Amino acid sequence: MPILLPEQDFCWFCRYIAGEQPCAFVLRNEQIAAWINVRQYERGSMLIAPTTHLPTVFDLDANTLAAVYTAAARVGEAAVRAFAATGLNIFQNNGVFAGQTVAQAAGPMVAKANPLDAIENQVRATGTC
Ligand SMILES: [Zn+2]
Repeated sequence: MPILLPEQDFCWFCRYIAGEQPCAFVLRNEQIAAWINVRQYERGSMLIAPTTHLPTVFDLDANTLAAVYTAAARVGEAAVRAFAATGLNIFQNNGVFAGQTVAQAAGPMVAKANPLDAIENQVRATGTC
C-alpha cells in the first residue's frame, strides 16, 4: 500500500529552493538546500532537502540520501555551536500519518538545549532569566 502524501497544488519547499518565496539559506549547493524553518516551533529549527522535488525518503537514491545526511551533520554541528545546544534532533516525516505536511523529502532539524543550561546561558548573557 503506498503511503498517503499531503495534497497540495504546489510544493512550498521547492518554491523556497527556486527563490520564489523568501527564505534564509544556511547551506546550499547543486544537490542540497538547508534553510531556517519559518515555523520556528523551536529556536534554531531548520529544514534540509534535496534541490529536486522528491516526495519521500523512498524517492532518494543513495547518493542523494548521503548528501542530505552529510549536510545535516554539517549544519547540525553549526546549530549546536550557535545555540550552545546539548542535543540535536534530525528527523524526516514520510506520509500524512507520519506528520508530513509538504510532499517533499525534507528533514527538519532542531538543536536542543538542556533547559537548565539554556536558563544559565540567558542569565549569563543578560543578567536575568
Ligand atoms: Zn518539492
